[in-house]
Amino acid sequence: MPEDREERHHRLVEADRRHLWHPFTQMQEWLAEEPLIVDEGDGVYLVDTLGRRYLDGVSSLWCNVHGHRVKEIDAAIVAQLGKLGHSTLLGLASTASIECAEELAPVLPRGLTRIFYSDAGATAVEIALKMAYQHHQLRGDTARAEFVSIRGGYHGDTIGSVSVGGIDLFHRIFKPLLFQVNQAPQPYCYRCPLGKERQSCGMECADAVEAVFEARRGKVAALVVEPLVQGADGMITQPKGYLRRLRELCDRHGALLVCDEVATGFGRTGTMWAVEQEGVVPDILTCAKGLSGGYLPLAATCTTEAVFESFLGPHEAQKTFFHGHTYAGNPLACAAATASLKLLREGKVVEGLPAKAEALAEALRPLARHPQVGEIRQRGLMVGIELVQDRRTKEEYPYAARAGHRVTLEARALGAILRPLGNVVVLMPPLAMTAAELGELAAIAAAAIERATARL
Ligand code: PMP
Repeated sequence: MPEDREERHHRLVEADRRHLWHPFTQMQEWLAEEPLIVDEGDGVYLVDTLGRRYLDGVSSLWCNVHGHRVKEIDAAIVAQLGKLGHSTLLGLASTASIECAEELAPVLPRGLTRIFYSDAGATAVEIALKMAYQHHQLRGDTARAEFVSIRGGYHGDTIGSVSVGGIDLFHRIFKPLLFQVNQAPQPYCYRCPLGKERQSCGMECADAVEAVFEARRGKVAALVVEPLVQGADGMITQPKGYLRRLRELCDRHGALLVCDEVATGFGRTGTMWAVEQEGVVPDILTCAKGLSGGYLPLAATCTTEAVFESFLGPHEAQKTFFHGHTYAGNPLACAAATASLKLLREGKVVEGLPAKAEALAEALRPLARHPQVGEIRQRGLMVGIELVQDRRTKEEYPYAARAGHRVTLEARALGAILRPLGNVVVLMPPLAMTAAELGELAAIAAAAIERATARL
């Protein structure tokens, strides 16, 4: 007797409970809850083992771009499989990684011409830190051994990227393992750490970054920042002109600017890169997630010829960048990325984004008046809806209330997958969602917030 759908589902649930340890998940709770097991993708929908369909409201953790099972990307991976699954970039080149770079380089901010591949956002950032540090060392500027980062930043989970991270909940336990980083206050206007109101704001948060540079004069190798939106801390959107100020500060103080576009890259904020909206070109740009269209692990640390040239020298000078991951530039992932980048270019996807972002904003507008919604923050197709117990006092829901998680469960019952960040409900749909699907996603989010907060 072949296994039926229910039996298969129960077998998978049992096996998951027996063997898996899920990331960023309290496993005691997980083991007590009924898991949703994703079995298939279909355009902007995910389908579970029981055949239920859900809008992929967070792009499978912020990486899906054109939807699932896109025929051009599927075909590119299959064609690559017919040639080669993997070969290394250490001392060898590969067709797929070169062709991917040929697609990526022309769409990078002007001046970023060198691509160092790896396989995750965290590794892309780790590489950026080591690259910036070694760059100054090789130029004889050996005192430049420190980093500046922004509170509330998130750059991945390896020790280096956690060191420049600034989310207490995730990072404080590891503090003894981290290297010292100079952290500046967060540009979080809704809850300004400097006590400013929007009307009285002179962008003191940028002045505070300047103060850090003044205090560490000649010692800073690089400033690391998520441009326009700090994603993982709750879609914290920066005031206009903030990133521009950071660029000027880095220039004035001889430090490199590292912009982590792992979340914001590939159109998420409405432009190909978030930095474009501030007219900024970083010295190093990191990207991952959407690079392969959300199909396979691939990341890139992109930099200028000036940084690249610091590392050039005769073999015995040992200026080599001694860093590399086994699967760096994996051909299957690169083939997916090349196909995804072609779709972005040929389909003029980024050009269509302002209208989609506006449709989403319009659909969310009524929610802004909800008594348990403190603020809706949006840049392009990145949205954070901050839930509050009390709009007037901005009182937060306690951690134990799991307000965001309850919204997620309600959204599932209504047909959308969401994943919250604490009390912030996140919407980060694939760029491929139509205006009608975005409207449906917003309606589900609103209904889920209504249902969940009514019971809190
Ligand atoms: N940087 C940013 C800005 C991110 O949002 C993330 C992931 N959410 C990362 C780095 C880490 O990426 P990965 O999970 O691929 O290591």
